[in-house]
Amino acid sequence: MTSILNAPHFHDEDAAYAYVETHLWPNGPVCPHCGNCDAAKIGKLNGKTTRAGLRKCYECRKPFTVKIGTIFEDSHAPLRYWLQAIYLMCSSKKGISTRQLQRTLGVGMKTAWFMGHRIRHAMAPAAPGKLGGPDVTVEADETYLAKSPKTRKAPGTALNAKPAPQVFSLIERGGDIRSMYLDDRNVRGAMVKHLDDRSRLVTDGSTVYKFVTDKHESVDHSKYEWARGDVHTNTLEGFFSIFKRGLVGVFQHIDKKHLDRYLAEFDFRMNTRSKLGIDDVQRTEIAIAGFAGKRLQYKTAH
Ligand SMILES: [Zn+2]
Repeated sequence: MTSILNAPHFHDEDAAYAYVETHLWPNGPVCPHCGNCDAAKIGKLNGKTTRAGLRKCYECRKPFTVKIGTIFEDSHAPLRYWLQAIYLMCSSKKGISTRQLQRTLGVGMKTAWFMGHRIRHAMAPAAPGKLGGPDVTVEADETYLAKSPKTRKAPGTALNAKPAPQVFSLIERGGDIRSMYLDDRNVRGAMVKHLDDRSRLVTDGSTVYKFVTDKHESVDHSKYEWARGDVHTNTLEGFFSIFKRGLVGVFQHIDKKHLDRYLAEFDFRMNTRSKLGIDDVQRTEIAIAGFAGKRLQYKTAH
């Protein structure tokens, strides 16, 4: 038995490029400058002093690597360290802190922070459509990120203080999850935007879910009713529990403006969960395949 961490792409820069190219260019190299993908018109530069993965397009005469147009562009960190970071994030159920990345990779704090956030950003779906559909059951639930589940405000906070941040999620049974930080957005607005109204909706007894769709069933937690047949929100309660344990144990404090990116990371792992037959290596490959064209969105996010 061989450790996954022995894989050459974690240690050798040329192997790291070859690995990323396999997943980002499944049909061969594509020139990011002019779109040329004719293998006969793209050369590989192999000089002794040439950077790893360097190619030249004979259509537009420009050089490029697989990093251009992705979250790796403009990063001085070796690609093999990026692959280590992505693997760690994809294989840790509760995520991995910036400090842990810093220690494990032996990079600076700022580099570790940027790597973590770029990877999180790239884990978000590129074109998120609505969840659910005809004959699809979708759970909806929301939770407060307070220290205790019983208090929405920490003890001693002023009465007019803002309540703890609230997170809202939708999940298709056996399918995808989508989570968001409810800033000034509200549950109803989020549902209109993210839920296909032909879905069958199951929720707790909260009044915010009433009349969203006529195919709505709920359990009444205030009457100690947690499940009635398949009407329950246990899938989301399990997810919230993992997210909160991640927050407490791994991330300590999360700036609210980054909360959506952490949620994208936890959503990504949930959408590629082992229950769906996806292992850590496959999850890492799915993450990398999704990195194409994610760079600009990262810039606008700042
Ligand atoms: Zn070109």
